[in-house]
Amino acid sequence: MSNLKGKTAIVTGSTSGIGLAMAIGLAKQGVNIMANGFGEKDVAIAQIKACGVEVDYHDADMSKPAEIKDLIEQTEKRFGSIDILVNNAGIQYTANVEDFPEDKWESIIAINLSSAFYTSHYALPGMKKRNWGRIINIASVHGLVGSAQKAAYVAAKHGIVGLTKVTALENAKTGITCNAICPGWVLTPLVQKQVDARAERDHVSNDEAKNALVSEKQPSGEFVAPEQLAALAVFLCGPDASEVRGAAWNMDGGWTAQ
Ligand code: NAD
Repeated sequence: MSNLKGKTAIVTGSTSGIGLAMAIGLAKQGVNIMANGFGEKDVAIAQIKACGVEVDYHDADMSKPAEIKDLIEQTEKRFGSIDILVNNAGIQYTANVEDFPEDKWESIIAINLSSAFYTSHYALPGMKKRNWGRIINIASVHGLVGSAQKAAYVAAKHGIVGLTKVTALENAKTGITCNAICPGWVLTPLVQKQVDARAERDHVSNDEAKNALVSEKQPSGEFVAPEQLAALAVFLCGPDASEVRGAAWNMDGGWTAQ
């Protein structure tokens, strides 16, 4: 039987892509889920529920601290505790620094970075009381290296790797760990938009654009699967990972080994 059975996780941005895979991966271990995010939420919730756990949904906009506070309070009320926090919600926008729209900068920093501070800020007191917790920040290879035209995203992801280290250090003598996962290319709606833009720019097919995109950075030439990232998250939540603290763990087909 899984040692995570009966615990509760919040997975931000769990209506799609990596967050949905994380929620399903944890639910398969018997973890109850507070889902969050926009879009096709009913389909996502049904998929998580099918794993046989309790699922609820909160519509917090992760760019709004007051809504994040409510997400934490409602989850504690509904499930009694927050044991696992997966900070996953994120957006992307690409442009050179001089052309980068100011509102896009602000919203990427708010959603991809500040939200992880606020969720941790509000969830840590409960975790400390129980002396157990797992905080997993979904960073990116862009938390470790840069790419042109991704100023806000790279700044936010480097920031979240820093936040991960500080959170891990402050709790190093407790049962609470904090780690970051740094995926390379994963074929989710967030990346499909970049594939579409490339296909249009280069007048090539969707498949050609996909292959060109992944091969440019990722030596394996293969996308990372969301389920592989979920399996890493499950490991980081387990007892064998209790001394993994403050890591920025890449799963990137060799991208950052170059
Ligand atoms: P996605 O677009 O499939 O999912 C993003 C999720 O975040 C969705 O559920 C969306 O509704 C939610 N979201 C967006 N804005 C929100 C807001 N203001 N409030 C609440 N929820 C919001 O994208 P994905 O590729 O699954 O990305 C998930 C995370 O993984 C992001 O942090 C992203 O930066 C990171 N990541 C993705 C890749 C990749 O190649 N796809 C690589 C590295 C890191």
